[in-house]
Amino acid sequence: MPNPDTTKIREQASEALRKAAISEEAKAYLLSNPVLFNLLLKAARRYIGGENLEQALATRKVLHEEGFQTSLEFMGENVTSVAEAKEATDEFLKIITALKTENKSDRVTLDLSHLGLVLDHKLGMENFRTLAKASENTSIDLFISAEGLDRTDEVLDAYFQFSREFSHVNITLQAYLHRTSKDLGRVLKESRGKVRMTKGAFEGPKELFLPRGPELNDRYIEMINTLFEAKRFCSIATHDPQMIDRIIPILEKHQIPPSMYEFEMLYGIGTSKLNELKQQGYPCRRYVVYGKEWYLYLCNRIAENPENVFQALVDIMT
Ligand SMILES: Cc1cc2nc3c(=O)[nH]c(=O)nc-3n(C[C@H](O)[C@H](O)[C@H](O)COP(=O)(O)OP(=O)(O)OC[C@H]3O[C@@H](n4cnc5c(N)ncnc54)[C@H](O)[C@@H]3O)c2cc1C
Repeated sequence: MPNPDTTKIREQASEALRKAAISEEAKAYLLSNPVLFNLLLKAARRYIGGENLEQALATRKVLHEEGFQTSLEFMGENVTSVAEAKEATDEFLKIITALKTENKSDRVTLDLSHLGLVLDHKLGMENFRTLAKASENTSIDLFISAEGLDRTDEVLDAYFQFSREFSHVNITLQAYLHRTSKDLGRVLKESRGKVRMTKGAFEGPKELFLPRGPELNDRYIEMINTLFEAKRFCSIATHDPQMIDRIIPILEKHQIPPSMYEFEMLYGIGTSKLNELKQQGYPCRRYVVYGKEWYLYLCNRIAENPENVFQALVDIMT
């Protein structure tokens, strides 16, 4: 039985970190204080592939040498100006150019709001189309991330449109949303892309989603099963050892070929479990983010699992 006091403090810590993540005041203080900035950067390094593309490509190279596939993302979302949207699009173009020269199967992941979709729908669509055209007929897959609960429709509509135009555009779904069963049905019927299944990360009105717990776990497994049955490629994007231990017997029982699924985890999380899976011969991918906007990302990774605060302390002091 979990200790109710520990559970409560864990929840409070998560909430405090999520607040810190979106606090402009905390972020401004951090940016203006080089000592604090450098200390926290040491903790962030566990979760980011670097602060620029060159460093991220070096991280990616090491992961490939270790036998992992990778996903690359230039960190960011919710741009507030056309110039920022262009800057992000240009950076993603640089990623595509760098990956193209290797001609190795690879993946780029992005938030459509990072390209301007929420700021100006038409601009975001144009920016994404530029990236889709630049990576068309290459070995690069583009994955669209699932964003906040207020923009699921906008993101999915964009995906359906691009999936009609391009065969290498793929989508991320969030099992915790009640609407996702229906959305998954539509994705299977009306699109051809691969599906990355996550539990879901964003807060929002409680009636829209299931909290973490057995019901969500059962729903997650059910959705993975639906993807297997539909013979649609599925990225099993969870760090939850319980989920993985439930999925492996399904893979074995139905002899799902390795070309139809993979285990995908965020860089710096679930390391020993993903290593174990790789050693057992399962296809494994590491999702590597990079950039200077690591503050929000760091807070979110710790908030998801407040024990990570101890790891951050160790990282800062060593
Ligand atoms: C490849 C990938 C892409 C993603 N893309 C999106 C997206 O586009 N949109 C979106 O909303 N969410 C996305 N997420 C996040 C996802 O929705 C979850 O919030 C996140 O993965 C935590 O849920 P979980 O299933 O891993 O484990 P939980 O159910 O949250 O936790 C179960 C167990 O997993 C382990 N665990 C989970 N998180 C951590 C952590 N931070 N540190 C250490 N251990 C941990 C712990 O053992 C924990 O007890 C993505 C996740 C991955 C792996």
